[in-house]
Amino acid sequence: MKQDNCIFCKIANGDIPSRTVYEDADFRAILDLGPATEGHTLILPKEHAANLYEMPDELAAKVLPVAKKVAALLKDRLGCAGLNLVQNNGELAGQTVMHFHLHLIPRYENDGQTILWKPTEPGADELDAVLKKLS
Ligand code: 5GP
Ligand code: ZN
Repeated sequence: MKQDNCIFCKIANGDIPSRTVYEDADFRAILDLGPATEGHTLILPKEHAANLYEMPDELAAKVLPVAKKVAALLKDRLGCAGLNLVQNNGELAGQTVMHFHLHLIPRYENDGQTILWKPTEPGADELDAVLKKLS
């Protein structure tokens, strides 16, 4: 189902034009308007899901094969040396458009980007406590 006020629903379904690099029955992959690097691409499902939690399993299962295709295209045509997959869920995690999207960010030597986190150093007890919560 499309959501009327969702810009990515409109883009994914072709109601708003976009720079489409890949399309199939379920997804459209488009160039990001504010690219981190050359070729920064977003994979959008045509069906609305706000985030990963809302994605139906069958649709979620189709995302990575599409990412592989687009990743191969980016490597082949742009010659990127690496690739980051980024997928933000929720405002706190940096999500600004509330329609699921997977970022493919090609990486180049000296591209000036850092897509990293600051590692912490928990003790074994802390890690065990987390594991207990998740078990
Ligand atoms: P988020 O922060 O939600 O994970 O990522 C949203 C991304 O969508 C940003 O990288 C932003 O540049 C991109 N974006 C936002 N609006 C548009 C748009 O209308 N068209 C395209 N192609 N990209 C957009
Ligand atoms: Zn949507």
